[in-house]
Amino acid sequence: MILQSGARVAIAGAGAFGSATALILSRLGFVVTVFDPAAPGENASGVAAGMLAPAAEAVFDKVSRGHLAVLRRARERWTTFAEGLGVSIDRGGVAVEGDADFLAEVEAALVEAGARFERTPGGLFSDEDWRLDARQALAALRQAAIAAGATFDPRGVAAFADGQARLDDGAVLAFDALVVATGGGGRSLAPELAALTPIKGQILRLETSMAAGPVLRGKGVYIAPGPRPAVGATMEAGRDDREPDPAVAEPLRVAAERLRPELAGARAVIEVGVRASTVDGLPLVGPSRVAGVVLAAGARRNGWLLAPLVADMVAAYLTDADPGEDAAAFDPQRFEG
Ligand SMILES: Cc1cc2nc3c(=O)[nH]c(=O)nc-3n(C[C@H](O)[C@H](O)[C@H](O)COP(=O)(O)OP(=O)(O)OC[C@H]3O[C@@H](n4cnc5c(N)ncnc54)[C@H](O)[C@@H]3O)c2cc1C
Repeated sequence: MILQSGARVAIAGAGAFGSATALILSRLGFVVTVFDPAAPGENASGVAAGMLAPAAEAVFDKVSRGHLAVLRRARERWTTFAEGLGVSIDRGGVAVEGDADFLAEVEAALVEAGARFERTPGGLFSDEDWRLDARQALAALRQAAIAAGATFDPRGVAAFADGQARLDDGAVLAFDALVVATGGGGRSLAPELAALTPIKGQILRLETSMAAGPVLRGKGVYIAPGPRPAVGATMEAGRDDREPDPAVAEPLRVAAERLRPELAGARAVIEVGVRASTVDGLPLVGPSRVAGVVLAAGARRNGWLLAPLVADMVAAYLTDADPGEDAAAFDPQRFEG
């Protein structure tokens, strides 16, 4: 696809992928409209812990064990992407604590993944992982995209064909391209989205504060410190509802209190998001079989980490530039045939 500056691009989805893409495309001079019927932040991107965590993901999410190199590339892209956005990046790293068996298991996984780490008196520490405030970052991206000329429209995209986007209220608008950044939704927009499985995630926000420091990882839990520490997260494959389920989320609280007993008794609010994942844990990024459609979906547990990298790739596909070294790994058709 070769679009020139001034071309009209619709983006379905205002999560991390859609918002980062909106910003980059608007800055390139495209006329961008982001469609999303959900209120800002009412999506996986809004509830996420905001970790930009190549090391922890490669260790604690088995499907990502071989992905350290791409996850590191994605993290590095944040350095320039965050400039001037008002998004602050906490480079505090990740500390792992637990019994000797657990630490030995994590150390072996860190070695296997190739992540940088050191032993500490309390356990293990890696400086590889960073963090941002997801809600604040989403608002900042939206604001910056609007400042760069993008428009946000509270309608959904129902279909796209022959340069026409049909919206969920029946309106039909002309666009040169559609970027599908619908997370776990929007299945009718591209056949490749059938490769995605929803994974419900519940996360606790504690009504207490915890001094800034590295994200803590223990057996079955992480605690991201700050004014409302985040304790996460469940991985409920096949579920796409956003109903809080205290029985399923309770083990998180128990595990967090084992790690930091001083958190006992803090009021916890359950927040729920639905991730979308392929079987290899990498997203679908690139042209769809539907003419004029480019995919940016299937972020699994790493949508924040991957967002600027994916937005760059979408821009490259739209302008017929080189999408970079992750193009084959993210190819939306890689599961076909
Ligand atoms: C509990 C939890 C914790 C997480 N923690 C982290 C973390 O620490 N670090 C990290 O990197 N990632 C984390 N993630 C994963 C991350 O949140 C997701 O990978 C990422 O937010 C996905 O972004 P997205 O833009 O693809 O999708 P979403 O954020 O789901 O946004 C998709 C948007 O598309 C909209 N939409 C759907 N259909 C249509 C349509 N037809 N037309 C228009 N709009 C449509 C939806 O309303 C939604 O707003 C976490 C996820 C969960 C659930």
